[in-house]
Amino acid sequence: MQTDYLDLLRTAIRDVPDFPQEGILFKDITPVLADPYLMKLAIDGMIEPFADLKVDKVVGIDARGFIFGSMIAQRLNAGFVPVRKKGKLPWKTAGVDYSLEYGTNRVEMHVDAIQPGEKVLLADDLLATGGTAGAALHLILGAGAELLGSTFFIELGFLDGRAKLASTGPVHALLTFG
Ligand code: AMP
Repeated sequence: MQTDYLDLLRTAIRDVPDFPQEGILFKDITPVLADPYLMKLAIDGMIEPFADLKVDKVVGIDARGFIFGSMIAQRLNAGFVPVRKKGKLPWKTAGVDYSLEYGTNRVEMHVDAIQPGEKVLLADDLLATGGTAGAALHLILGAGAELLGSTFFIELGFLDGRAKLASTGPVHALLTFG
């Protein structure tokens, strides 16, 4: 994607210091969500390396990953699968505990959400330490899927979350900070 498009997106992201706790510089993507042109650029850019692949399911991570993931799924003519925080899914789940930039958490996925051998793409808004995406990938691989890779709108490069995902296929991030 052209640098000027990336600059438009980069400029639209609002930095919120000390949210949700001191020391975290929160990347607020709501100005991008509010603008259909910017949102189209974001989805185009997140899809780019995977656009020619046959994708069966896109997995999105609770909660902003649902927004990006479901739009990507529609564009790729794939199904959407939510990976949710503990206790939110109504049916039988598989779960993984993980640590993130602020606190700890557990993510869960329905046991029948992905069939063995299905081609799966993971999507989330932001890659920080890689704990959340790593846990989601564990669930995807545990379901017997063929992982095509992961795509993020933003990567916080200084946290090197990418290293945690290195063994699980290509990692694409549209914008890198730090
Ligand atoms: P991590 O597991 O550390 O890679 O954290 C990634 C998850 O936490 C993503 O789902 C993000 O939505 C959220 N997150 C972590 N750090 C930030 C940040 N600085 N700004 C916005 N969201 C963040």
